[in-house]
Amino acid sequence: MRRPVVMGNWKLNGSKTMVTELLTGLNAELEGVAGVDVAVAPPALYLDLAERLIKEGGNKIILGAQNTDVNNSGAFTGDVSPQMLKDFGATHIIIGHSERREYHHESDEFVAQKFAFLKENGLTPVLCIGESEAQNEAGETLAVCARQLDAVIKTQGVEALNDAIIAYEPIWAIGTGKAATAEQAQSIHASIRAHIAKESEAVAKNVIIQYGGSVKAENAAELFAQPDIDGALVGGAALDAKGFAAIAKAAAAAKA
Ligand code: PEP
Repeated sequence: MRRPVVMGNWKLNGSKTMVTELLTGLNAELEGVAGVDVAVAPPALYLDLAERLIKEGGNKIILGAQNTDVNNSGAFTGDVSPQMLKDFGATHIIIGHSERREYHHESDEFVAQKFAFLKENGLTPVLCIGESEAQNEAGETLAVCARQLDAVIKTQGVEALNDAIIAYEPIWAIGTGKAATAEQAQSIHASIRAHIAKESEAVAKNVIIQYGGSVKAENAAELFAQPDIDGALVGGAALDAKGFAAIAKAAAAAKA
């Protein structure tokens, strides 16, 4: 039985006040909520504050981050290492987000390198995959997802996906308000799982596959009712404690 994971990607949003209000609100909203793992990925600068606030709230929230370097120390100006993330209690690290692939020209191979380095350091990669609108319209969705996944599978073996999380995020749905329908998302999730099952049925059966792209309280229940959707990676709607908690509660209810 896969336990759903709902993770908030705060992107480049935050201030001391905002982090304090959001996590204080979430600590309260998540009181008594069971059956779902809830994680947040604040900007790296706020990890220290977030770690303290999560502790104050009784550690109901998993701390994550939005990126990692592929070195633990050295002459790499501006980067943040897995050991530094660990030092602040962050465990779930987003890699391969489409914004990093696009704006920072991160290749499948570089993302796979990050995946391997996170695992080597005992952290959980949250590997984002997904197609652009043009690729979707050209019928290339599965080929794109398979290529992005294979960059990990072919270099590290399918077992590398054990204890990792995959986030299927169609780029055309991110931040647009135009989420994939539950049926569309389910069909791609099932195909992603089938692609992994070609290498290992056991890994495919156990791996968490989140959906990401304009998830909000209003469409969460329908998405989570699908058998292959194991939670969500949430952007915009993760910046509101009540709305984000409602998504987490919907996941818990759907998979109970
Ligand atoms: C994201 O950036 O990972 C994301 C899913 O954003 P949004 O929920 O705003 O579409």
